[in-house]
Amino acid sequence: MKDLLKIAIQKSGRLHEESVKMLREAGIDLSTGPNKLRAEAYNFPLEVLFLRDDDIPQYVEDGVADAGIVGENIIYEVRKKIKLVEKLRFGKCRLAIAVPKNMQYNNLKDLRGKKIATSYPSILSEFLKTHKVNAKIETVSGSVEIAPGVGLADAICDLVSSGSTLFANGLKEVELVLQSEAALVSSTKLNSVKSEILKKLLFRFRAVKKSRHNKYILLNAPNNKLDIICKILPGMKSPTILPLAEKGWSSVHSVVNEEKFWEIIEKLKENGAQGILVIPIEKMVL
Ligand code: ATP
Ligand code: ZN
Repeated sequence: MKDLLKIAIQKSGRLHEESVKMLREAGIDLSTGPNKLRAEAYNFPLEVLFLRDDDIPQYVEDGVADAGIVGENIIYEVRKKIKLVEKLRFGKCRLAIAVPKNMQYNNLKDLRGKKIATSYPSILSEFLKTHKVNAKIETVSGSVEIAPGVGLADAICDLVSSGSTLFANGLKEVELVLQSEAALVSSTKLNSVKSEILKKLLFRFRAVKKSRHNKYILLNAPNNKLDIICKILPGMKSPTILPLAEKGWSSVHSVVNEEKFWEIIEKLKENGAQGILVIPIEKMVL
């Protein structure tokens, strides 16, 4: 049998495109044949299975798939024996409790004796238990946000990203239950060949993650300002400094993190940097 790592990703839905993009940016080209359930990579020992996200942990636990990309919300809800290998920084959302806008709400005690509709009964019951709140959980599989409006429940516990769905349904968010993002998971029973492939895949995913959050920066600076400018630039090691044709000036190259980006640019300008260029990074291997 050919040694391939089988990875399950969402067939369609919120995580599908980003999962395919992650693989593509990791340099993996997928065949796009007529079969929409699986695809093989041309240039990496990988086979991709397209599944409903809820089914991915079970497939990985059973060893039908060796790895998967799925939301943490699902991983924690289904409690399968699988390994969370790496968070992937996309598909970010939160599992939150929301109540009707006009309900008086001060704290979790206000949920005592109430009925909460959710598709995440297991995470919610754990949360309520931890906070010693006795409430009834009504498990529903979809359209959770309409439950209070139709009289099925007093509150809901559902995934939120912007909050606009809650608002449109006359609800307000009152408690954060779980922060979630997409994650790479794997079977706990990989053979050594598959473990090696997973390691290579993880190495590439990390390079993609890093490159997405960093930018390459080039600027010109008078030589007497180089000290202060190098202190402002965090970089991977120290910045590269090259002399310019114009006497007394240098070109400085470095990598900056997206989070502190604007702050750093402002400081650089204040300290005499000119001609600042910012370039996206294709891959970053450390
Ligand atoms: P499937 O058909 O695969 O079962 P689904 O309808 O259950 O799909 P999606 O709505 O596509 O699932 O969401 C997939 C995942 O995307 C969620 O489990 C969650 O991890 C993540 N996600 C990110 N933002 C949101 C959001 N605002 N609402 C719901 N899920 C979100
Ligand atoms: Zn689903």
